[in-house]
Amino acid sequence: MAKKEQTPKIYLLDVTNRDGVQTAKLGLSKLEKTMINIYLNEMGVFQSEFGFPTTRHEARYLEANLELAETGVLKPIRLEGWIRAIVGDVKTAFKFVPNIKHLNLSISTSEQMLKGKFRGKKSEDDIIKEMTDAVDAAKALGAESIGVNAEDASRTDLSFLVKFGLAAREHGAARLRYCDTLGYDNPFTIYDTLKALAENVDIPLEVHCHSDLGMAVANSLAGAKGAVDGGQDAYINTTINGIGERAGNADLVATVLALTKSKGFAKKYQLGNPIKLAVAAKIAEFASYAFDVPIPINQPGVGANAFAHASGIHADGVLKDPENYELYSYKELGRGTPKFVETGREIISGQYSGVAGFKHLMGKMNVSFASRDEAGDILELVRYANVQSHKPLVEDELLFIAKYPLIAQKVLTQTPLVLETM
Ligand SMILES: [Zn+2]
Repeated sequence: MAKKEQTPKIYLLDVTNRDGVQTAKLGLSKLEKTMINIYLNEMGVFQSEFGFPTTRHEARYLEANLELAETGVLKPIRLEGWIRAIVGDVKTAFKFVPNIKHLNLSISTSEQMLKGKFRGKKSEDDIIKEMTDAVDAAKALGAESIGVNAEDASRTDLSFLVKFGLAAREHGAARLRYCDTLGYDNPFTIYDTLKALAENVDIPLEVHCHSDLGMAVANSLAGAKGAVDGGQDAYINTTINGIGERAGNADLVATVLALTKSKGFAKKYQLGNPIKLAVAAKIAEFASYAFDVPIPINQPGVGANAFAHASGIHADGVLKDPENYELYSYKELGRGTPKFVETGREIISGQYSGVAGFKHLMGKMNVSFASRDEAGDILELVRYANVQSHKPLVEDELLFIAKYPLIAQKVLTQTPLVLETM
């Protein structure tokens, strides 16, 4: 097939707000998800899979974030919702979140899932029909871009994957997501498969890797290389701190470091848009706080020990020239500023806080209010945010609420269904 004239590029598509929050025992409040979108945008990530448009309690958060996109606050990042590749889900998504513009539609493709999950009730042709019907429905309802996800792709016959991808492309899908759902691939297999898909399906490819065998980042790089060598753009799926189902996904910061700093890779395989690594420390720390999961001490780039040297030879070497024992500088990752930790009196805003304490707290961030009533209104939002997150809000969250109170109100509003049977 005809190759594109320009060298294909690699983009980052973060799925923390979907795969990350699907993780057992973990979750994020809607405000925390919003902050993640803001930090991802600041970092230059191409797309955020920002949630589940068929889930009722996500709808206001999704709509509010789309409003932030429209007003330029969340720009240029692309916000995309994740649903099953079923016509019913497409309709529900547009009913709950009418302004949704980008969707990824997911369906299992492997023989294992056909037998083990669908219990033999669906044939390969049925899978393709369901997916293409869903793509058609999404287009008819106004989706601007549609990605199609082959779940468990790494255990799917290549010939069926090609057929599936061609059908998706024919119906107007913009990308095919190759999901190594179980983390089964290795860099060699995923390279071959992605190259073959790029050559035979002729569609940009997403690489979605898990770390069950400890290879999510390596596989993501190899998969992206396969796509580019096959003539297609690659979109690597990441999560912040690698948090995702089971052993997790490809870590965002580690993936960027691997793409840009590993031996010779960036000479040929380049990012489609620049990534601000300086946001790395901030985004990793926020996700750690929000998920309440510590960053491992040896985490690439952002772990406490990532730039720590104790042995005589290393300490001496790194002091003479950092490049002796460091591949990159801590400053590049936004580290090195001393952290302010309050050791005296501390006023915290929580769900039972009052206006005086809140005004004092905001005053320390140079935020003042026109009146006591205005401070009270903002505090009311802060109280609800605290109810949802169960922890003191970070400065950026408080500043966000003070700056965009109406958006914050939407993000925080939850209205469960009235139960008709009670
Ligand atoms: Zn996943």
